[in-house]
Amino acid sequence: MKTIAFFDTKPYDKEYFNQVNQNYKFKYFESKLSENTAQLAKGCDGVVAFVNDSITAPVINQLHELGVKIVAMRSAGYNNVDVKAAFQKLHIVRVPAYSPNAVAEHAFALLLAINRKIHKAYTRTRDFNFSLSGLVGFDMAGKTIGVIGTGKIGQIFINIAKGFSMNVLAYDLYPNKNLDVNYVSLDELFEKSDIISLHCPLTEETKHVINEESIAKMKKGVTIVNTSRGGLIESNALLNGLKNGKIRGAALDVYEEEAELFFEDFSNTIIKDDVLALLVSLPNVIITSHQGFLTEEALSNIAQTTMNNLDEYFNDDKLTNEICYQCMDGRAAYECHHQNKKRCF
Ligand code: NAD
Repeated sequence: MKTIAFFDTKPYDKEYFNQVNQNYKFKYFESKLSENTAQLAKGCDGVVAFVNDSITAPVINQLHELGVKIVAMRSAGYNNVDVKAAFQKLHIVRVPAYSPNAVAEHAFALLLAINRKIHKAYTRTRDFNFSLSGLVGFDMAGKTIGVIGTGKIGQIFINIAKGFSMNVLAYDLYPNKNLDVNYVSLDELFEKSDIISLHCPLTEETKHVINEESIAKMKKGVTIVNTSRGGLIESNALLNGLKNGKIRGAALDVYEEEAELFFEDFSNTIIKDDVLALLVSLPNVIITSHQGFLTEEALSNIAQTTMNNLDEYFNDDKLTNEICYQCMDGRAAYECHHQNKKRCF
């Protein structure tokens, strides 16, 4: 039986993976994968990792030397993997779609909550404070919402927005001709949107797509939603925009420096990240701890697809969900697999 090191394990991971596992011995570690913890994978054939694990070149080299052959990401995003360093050493597989609905619905839930100030209203009524001052929101209907990234999650988000009778503007590096949406330039999206929601991956091109310059182009009173990756937003620029009133509200499921913090309980600790502390303290900001994926359906799909990915590798089959630096954006995947019969290398 193959042994798999499972990093950054949470109770719900164990529950859903144990339900579908028949073929592997999982070694569950609560630690995140890093240069300091990679040695835990000694004696293991594969690794299962998540969004805040660091699969950097030194970690890849350590795993390779330990005889690990595959890193199965139990996520769609893989910006935390140095895919170039992994090439020819470790096969990297992922779960490309486990429930785009889960993330799109969470993004919309955050948007509705920040607009109608549900977070404020909830704490008020728990304290028997039934006043409404300061809770004025706006109608969604008729507002213009700009969606950056129209892949699986972005498309569902657009459909939800249309259900609210909103005008949708979209930007994508690769516009989808089959999608009934008004694609515009990034600048036009910034200039015309009342709300901007991010659904693109974190890449060199998209890093800090929301920055001082782009915020300057936006409408006064814009609301920003980010359920994609923290690095898409330059946090200090966001904070300045919120403080000077240019940005009406921000709803964030991800944060640039989340890796050391998210998924853990620091309620008895003084957080040293001043930007995060300030963001959390603002009344017009809601932060959730990267929980967009956290539905029963998504967890079940993540476990099942990860198991299939491992089975494909150990049965010497075609790796359906493999990625490498040559096919990173997913578009060249067929070509890459085709050239190499069934795997990226
Ligand atoms: P996807 O691959 O289906 O879609 C991504 C879209 O972004 C594609 O249409 C692609 O063409 C577009 N894109 C790529 N580069 C771009 C650029 N420079 N500018 C604009 N668009 C660009 O991915 P998805 O399943 O819709 O997921 C989107 C992102 O959501 C993931 O990359 C991940 O970071 C994030 N995510 C978050 C959670 C969560 O729990 N919060 C869960 C899953 C995914």
